[in-house]
Amino acid sequence: MKLRELYTVLKDVLKEASESPGSEALSILSKVTSQTRERLLMNFEEEIDENVCQMAISLSKKRANGYPLQYITERCYFHGLELYVCEGVFVPRIETELLVDLALELIEERSFKVVADIGTGTGCIAIAIALESRCEVLATDVSERALETARRNIERYKVHVQLLKGAYLAPLRSVLDDVQLIVSNPPYVSTRAELPADVKKEPHEALFAGEDGLEFYRNFFSDPSLLARKTIIMEMSPEQEGPLRDLLKGLGTLTFLKDQFSRTRFFRLDVA
Ligand code: SAM
Ligand code: GLN
Repeated sequence: MKLRELYTVLKDVLKEASESPGSEALSILSKVTSQTRERLLMNFEEEIDENVCQMAISLSKKRANGYPLQYITERCYFHGLELYVCEGVFVPRIETELLVDLALELIEERSFKVVADIGTGTGCIAIAIALESRCEVLATDVSERALETARRNIERYKVHVQLLKGAYLAPLRSVLDDVQLIVSNPPYVSTRAELPADVKKEPHEALFAGEDGLEFYRNFFSDPSLLARKTIIMEMSPEQEGPLRDLLKGLGTLTFLKDQFSRTRFFRLDVA
């Protein structure tokens, strides 16, 4: 089959499931042929090996059934970075890019020197901050798969980010005094929520935080004495503003911030 024909077949398989079937077809072709999209576009008349065709068609079907494209291509994009990602690790979202910008502004304004990213996943937030500031960056996760992925991305960008395994503040215990800023995009989805098919393929522990989606925050802020004189910026769901106001009452100065779609998406807590 010629590449041109294969491209049409894939686009057809993907058209129900995807908003950009042409672009996704090219991404899948790029993965199975190990060629860049630009190169593929220049070689549309080339004959493609039957095995490669079958592989591309089967991956497109998998995608059409709701498997995330990023797990197929093992690539995702965040804050101008191209990162490795694989099944078992959360795919960074565009909203979270703003969390990085908010952190960078604060780092500059307050001359913060040590930052910790809790629940780093691919390492996206930590790597973006390490590349764009002079901070010492620590990053944690409970998931070994996430830490391996973050390690790979840290090596790719040749940045210094120290990875630590464990839940909440536990892995930071020995260095916590030095940490001035904590950033996190934690799990905050309610276990009752109905999620789109592709989101459902992402790791449970990355998304869900109990029936009300607040379990991570409740545990994280359970011992406020650990957070004295620190600033914390976290991502949240827009519906959690009220419950978070209650949960964080009395802990410090609380500010809610919007994402690029004008939805309340982050809070900043300055603990006295
Ligand atoms: N920071 C990444 C991003 O924005 O793309 C990943 C965010 S994902 C929504 C949440 C991450 O937190 C997952 O990688 C998950 O393994 C990790 N995680 C879940 N519970 C945790 C806990 N109690 N302590 C530390 N990390 C946790
Ligand atoms: N925004 C994510 C979603 O698409 C949830 C992210 C999170 O729990 N941190 O469902």
